[in-house]
Amino acid sequence: MKNKCSTCGSSDFEVRIEPDEFHRNGKSFTIDVEYSVCRQCSDEVIFSEQIKRNDCRVRDAWRKIDGLLTAQKIVALRNKLKLTQQDAAKIFGGGTNAFSKYERSEVIQSVAMDKLMRAALDVPDMFIWLKQQAGFNEKKLPASDYDNVVPITHRIIADLQTKSHKTIISEHDDYHEMTDYG
Ligand SMILES: [Zn+2]
Repeated sequence: MKNKCSTCGSSDFEVRIEPDEFHRNGKSFTIDVEYSVCRQCSDEVIFSEQIKRNDCRVRDAWRKIDGLLTAQKIVALRNKLKLTQQDAAKIFGGGTNAFSKYERSEVIQSVAMDKLMRAALDVPDMFIWLKQQAGFNEKKLPASDYDNVVPITHRIIADLQTKSHKTIISEHDDYHEMTDYG
């Protein structure tokens, strides 16, 4: 759906970005605010998708002021822990799409979630425990290594079976040889 000017009906807009000052808990911060200007009548408007993007920037600035991990820091932390967004949600909770929402600044993580993420990075034993609780087996090798182990194990079993089979045949041969002598 194309955005239209409510004043003149034109859909010819110019996107502008300007810094704007906001306040939170007595602290001021500046973020870039996106809006549109009608090229026909110069009316200024902020469309819903622009509001969404502006809100995300505001939320990220709030996090910074509140001492919470910002979107960028959450991505970095998750990468350090070598987790996908899905795995992070399984381990830390917050719902299936929690991490994509945190990382797009659509949702601000709770203080508890923020502490849990930091603790997972600073306290390795706790991170291992959390992974085990989520059903991730710590002893399991990475997928690529694990794939290589299985065929070798199968090959050893196959070798053992072949050897025992050969033994039976040789015993039978001996028996036949003995009967021939007899
Ligand atoms: Zn207009």
